[in-house]
Parts: sequence; structure tokens; C-alpha cells
Amino acid sequence: MSRKTSGKRGGPGPATIGIHAGSPEPVSGAPVVLPVVQSATFFGGTGEPASQLLYSRHGNNPNQALVGEKMAALEGAEEGLLLSSGMSAIAMTILAALPEGGHVVSSRHLYGATRALLEDELPKRGITTTLIEPESKADWEGALTPRTGVLFLEVPTNPTLRVFDPRVPAEIARDREILLAVDATFASPVNIRFADLGVGAVIHSATKYLGGHSDLVAGVVSGSSGLIERVRGMMKLYGPAPDPHTAWLLDRGLKTLQMRVAQHNQNAMELANWFLGRQGVAEVHYPGLPGHPDYDIASEIMAGFGGMLSIELEGGGPAADAFAAGLELALLAPSLGGVETLVSQPRHTSHIHFSETMRVDLGIPDGFVRISVGLEDVEDLMADFGRALAGS
Ligand SMILES: *Cc1c(COP(=O)(O)O)cnc(C)c1O
Repeated sequence: MSRKTSGKRGGPGPATIGIHAGSPEPVSGAPVVLPVVQSATFFGGTGEPASQLLYSRHGNNPNQALVGEKMAALEGAEEGLLLSSGMSAIAMTILAALPEGGHVVSSRHLYGATRALLEDELPKRGITTTLIEPESKADWEGALTPRTGVLFLEVPTNPTLRVFDPRVPAEIARDREILLAVDATFASPVNIRFADLGVGAVIHSATKYLGGHSDLVAGVVSGSSGLIERVRGMMKLYGPAPDPHTAWLLDRGLKTLQMRVAQHNQNAMELANWFLGRQGVAEVHYPGLPGHPDYDIASEIMAGFGGMLSIELEGGGPAADAFAAGLELALLAPSLGGVETLVSQPRHTSHIHFSETMRVDLGIPDGFVRISVGLEDVEDLMADFGRALAGS
């Protein structure tokens, strides 16, 4: 048994949930922290229902189950399921929700691997996708077919930090009884609780903010019990289960999620304002800036504007390369959401397989630099970025 901590209105707040939800009962002599249960299998198989059999590929090892329960409480969803990566969470959710020959309508603003999954991989399995610009209800409706079973959206978008309103596709999904899945990685459950906005499947790359220390790869999906059972069914067959130690590390990360994200929000907001109008900086993309195209929506649905920010340098690719080379504190690496500030150029990382024309069309011209603002003292980051800008 575990301590139930619900994220429902009037219940405990996200900091409390992050620390306590799913933790073991406080029985005298029991450990305060659930140890890593490094066991593939568990005693059983003596006539109990199949759903009660524990096996680590089924995602019900105690460490995996604890994280699932904590995530469900953080999201305000019925159930959560931990998988081995963000990509496996996305892939298993889409496969679980679609019939043979199913169709997806997705925002075209996607993480590179998600786009490749939808455009290149799933069509080989008979699943097709129509990519849209998700500005209005008409944009979504115009792409629906009788076989559409999933609407897919990423908020905020990587790396352009657009904030599209999930309530628009949520209404369509509800009316048609299909699934709206949202990749909520950039927001984290601290900044947006998507289930409250009508989203059926809330997906995270737990590799990022949830883990928070750039030391694990995992993914999570939260939603109704029915959906999670179907995704678990896919996980049992395809096998992307996380190992117990990863689940344990992730739980440790979740205990400080609220505090970390609050500080990421603050550091990024200060840095975004600092970059505005600096010499050599053509654009600053941050949803907390009043000049951002989605500032109004972001202000409405986000508790904080997040730790991700992007800039465009006037000198294009060469300026961005020089800027990156001039950094001493901020580190050059893909990925995001860790305690250390990470800088990357999408044209060298997530969008490396896109042509320059496609990148420009997506709002990622050469000279575009993505910054995952970490938890260092923000003055130190400003000094580092100031030096790098001066040399770019
Ligand atoms: C990193 C990321 C993913 C993929 O997650 P992995 O854990 O690396 O599989 C998916 N979506 C977004 C927005 C990401 O940032």
C-alpha cells in the first residue's frame, strides 16, 4: 500500500505531491525512501488475476508503480505509466489509441524524432498523419478523416516556444470521442496541468524536467485508466519498460520538481529580458515576453513560462557558431531540463535532417540558438552570455 496524495482541487499542492505521493506507508521500521527493487520478477502465479502479477516489463515493479502514481497525482489524471523514454511514451500511446489504418492529425511544430515517427515510420505500418498549423479550430477540423483517432500537439513547441491552445483540439477530441495527446515536456506539470484543459493523454520525456539532472532517460504518459491499460498493453508487447533504478532516480528528481521549475521559470524570465535589445540579438523567443505571439494564451494557461528560451543572432550561422564557441559556463549539448544550462543549435542537433528551407519555414533560421536555462546564479549566466555575444 502507498500513501495516496491526490492532485484534485482543494487537495495538496504540487510541491507536496512531488514529495509524498505514492510513497510507502509510514510503518515503524520501514524505510522512508522506497529502495530500488532490483528484481525482474515477483512471487505469484498461483491463481491471482493476471493484472496483479508483478513483472518489470509490465511497468508494475514497485519503483515504476510509485512514479506512475506520483505523476497521475501531479497531472490530476486517473493513472500514469512510466516507460523507457519519451519517444516510447509517444509511440506506445499513438499505437494504443489507433485502429489498423488509423490517422493522426498533428501540429507541425514537433520535436524532430516525433516528426520522423509520424512522417516516416508509422506510414510503413499503415498509420498516416496530416500535419497542420494548429492556430484555429478550422485548421484541426479541416484535416479530420473518418479514420482520425489521435490529435497530437506539443506545448510549448521545441525549439520555437509557441504556445498553442490545447482547449481547441480538446473540444474536437471530446465531440468525436477520439484522443488528444499532448507532448508536455517543455511545460512540466508544474507550469501546465493539461488534464484540467481536457487533454486525454499527457506525455513527458521524463529525461528532461521530471528527472531534472540529465542523468536518466524515461518517459511518462498520464490519462484515464482505460487509456493507460491500453498503453500498458502495448508496452507489454513492444517492451519499452524502464529499469527500476531509473524509476528510483526519477522519483528522487520529482521530489524537487516544483522548486526546480519555479527557479527555471525565474532564471529564464530574467535572461529573456536581459537578451532583449542586446547588440547582435535579432529575436528573443520566450512566452513570458509581452511581444511573444502567444503571450495572451501563455498567460492564461501557464503557471510559469518555463525554463526554455531561444534567441536568433543577427549574424546567422557563423554568429551562432562563434557565440557557442565563446561560452564557458553554459554547456553545449542537446537535451534540456537539467540543473545545468545547456545550449544547442537545432540545425546541428534536433533538426539536423531538415533542409534549410524547411527549417526557415518552421521558424528556425540559421543563427537560431536554443537555451535550456539551468539553476546557476543568473548573474553568472548573464556574464557568460555577455562574453559570448561580444565575441560573436
Ligand atoms: C526529448 C524530447 C522527446 C524525446 O524524449 P526521450 O526521452 O529523449 O525519448 C520528445 N519530445 C520532446 C519535446 C523532447 O524534448
